[in-house]
Amino acid sequence: MLNALQTRIIAIVTFLVAVALLSAGVGWAGYVSALDQLEQRGRSDLALASDRLTGELGRYRELAVLMADHPGVMAAVTGDARGVSDLLRETADKTGSLDILVVSQFGAELASASGEGALSHGGAPYFERAMDGAMGVYHRVSDRYGQRTFMFAAPVFSNAGPVQGAVIIIVNVSAVEAVWRGARPTVFFTDELGVTFISNRSEMVLMARGNISTVRGTSAEYYPDTLRPFLDHQERDVRGRQLWSVEGQRYVPRHALYLSLSLPVIQMTGEALLDVSPARTLAGLQAGVAAAICLAFGAMLFLATERRRTLAIANAQLEGAVQARTAELSRTNAELRREVSERIAAEAQLKKAQSDLVQAGKLSALGQMSAGISHELNQPLMAIRSYAENAEAFLDRGKSEVAGQNLARIADLARRMGRIIRNLRAFAKQEREGIADVPLDGVVTAVLEIVEARARDAGVEIVWQPPDVDLVVRGGEVRLQQVVLNLVTNAMDAMEAQDSPRRIEIDAERHNDRIELFVRDTGPGLDEPDRIFDPFYSTKQVTSDGTGQDGMGLGLSISYGLVQSFGGMIRGRNHPVRGAVFTVTLDAAQPREDAA
Ligand code: ADP
Repeated sequence: MLNALQTRIIAIVTFLVAVALLSAGVGWAGYVSALDQLEQRGRSDLALASDRLTGELGRYRELAVLMADHPGVMAAVTGDARGVSDLLRETADKTGSLDILVVSQFGAELASASGEGALSHGGAPYFERAMDGAMGVYHRVSDRYGQRTFMFAAPVFSNAGPVQGAVIIIVNVSAVEAVWRGARPTVFFTDELGVTFISNRSEMVLMARGNISTVRGTSAEYYPDTLRPFLDHQERDVRGRQLWSVEGQRYVPRHALYLSLSLPVIQMTGEALLDVSPARTLAGLQAGVAAAICLAFGAMLFLATERRRTLAIANAQLEGAVQARTAELSRTNAELRREVSERIAAEAQLKKAQSDLVQAGKLSALGQMSAGISHELNQPLMAIRSYAENAEAFLDRGKSEVAGQNLARIADLARRMGRIIRNLRAFAKQEREGIADVPLDGVVTAVLEIVEARARDAGVEIVWQPPDVDLVVRGGEVRLQQVVLNLVTNAMDAMEAQDSPRRIEIDAERHNDRIELFVRDTGPGLDEPDRIFDPFYSTKQVTSDGTGQDGMGLGLSISYGLVQSFGGMIRGRNHPVRGAVFTVTLDAAQPREDAA
């Protein structure tokens, strides 16, 4: 399996190879088409150069023909050579010929423009040809003139008809070349022996194509020592064209297209070497442009795919992160839900435990109260009995007025007993009341009524001075009574074992929308203030007759729960001087709108 990096590398390499192939193709096509054009141009250049050469030489050829018909020349070949030398010289000067010779039918030189030595031409091919009545054309490196010469030998006919001699025009090849030396392209003309005889590049002249000694062997007469080896070059074929790579030449193109043209008139082959570097440069440029376009396109494509790939990766990462986060959130959510349900269950348990405690506390308070109340009821009952007995006695004595007073006392006592019993019933019933506006004064007064008798018996002074401010709190009336009763009876319990002073001060203050109730005693104070609200914390001993202190240790913890259920707070601390102080803080009732 290939990974992403390998795939990309393979794609890039494939692309680069494709670009290289494509640009090579474009370059090759451009090269071939440029070669086409070069060849066309080269052919016409070569044709032009050949025309110029043949045209130039043609002039001398025609001169030879004309001179052959000249009467002076004809006279010379038939024996009267007087004055012909002047004619020849004059003509040579005017036509730019190197020399003009008049030769007898045996090859002997009868006259010449240069007037130099008499040379025999017998046996020379040009002479033989002229003797045959045709134009003899020849070229050689002449010892006599010390340079390359071209010669045209025209037969001189007598009036009778047969060839009497010949006129030979010697042409200076260098002079012909001079006009087009250095012109482009490189052109050279090679003879039948493979020797470059004429060229527009001087270094190309007199090079032998093939073995020099062989050439020399066959033509020592024409090419004495001047031959040089041919250009060091390699040939190769490009679509039917010959391309040359030339070594070590300054004026010949290094890479050239080779063209040739046969020129039978002068018995030579015209050849040209055309520089292909412009074609190469052009092809290279075309390949480069194609490659650049492809690469630019490829780079754009690559960038676009890279961008898409990066985006896709980022997207995948983001999605992964989102999924992970979602999973985490769902887990946390599930955990939270479990915790919430656990909490709800715990709360329900707590509520149940609290209500059980309240119930237990009520029973405990009931126990406490039953002692106090039986004491409280016992007293009026005894009084009622004695008032009733007294009333009976007064009635017997006919003192109905006094008896009436006694009966009125009895009624009073019965009413008071009824009130005490009502309080007791309120305590005993399972309270379902909600939270309402409760006058604090009434609560304290009801509690004091319950404990009045016990306080009196125990010599406890209870001071309750309700302030003038409005003391209506938020709470449940009976439960609040239960709290206050618990605080007062605890205070009385605490002072039971001590000598005077036994005093309980109840006080209340309002702070904005909070109301504080203080219950202070002059007892020994709290042993462990931090623990008093703990359930079942008690320092009291259970007494055998049930009338004394019984230490359930629930009173304050229940009170705590009750006050909290009203949205309030209960605290206990020791007074700096002596005794304990309990503070109950409650919400003050909002003033009624209709009362305003
Ligand atoms: P119990 O009255 O059944 O002992 P409580 O919860 O009402 O239970 O009281 C717990 C304890 O707090 C008492 O046993 C007592 O030690 C202490 N306590 C409460 N009120 C006072 C007080 N006014 N003075 C001294 N100690 C007190």
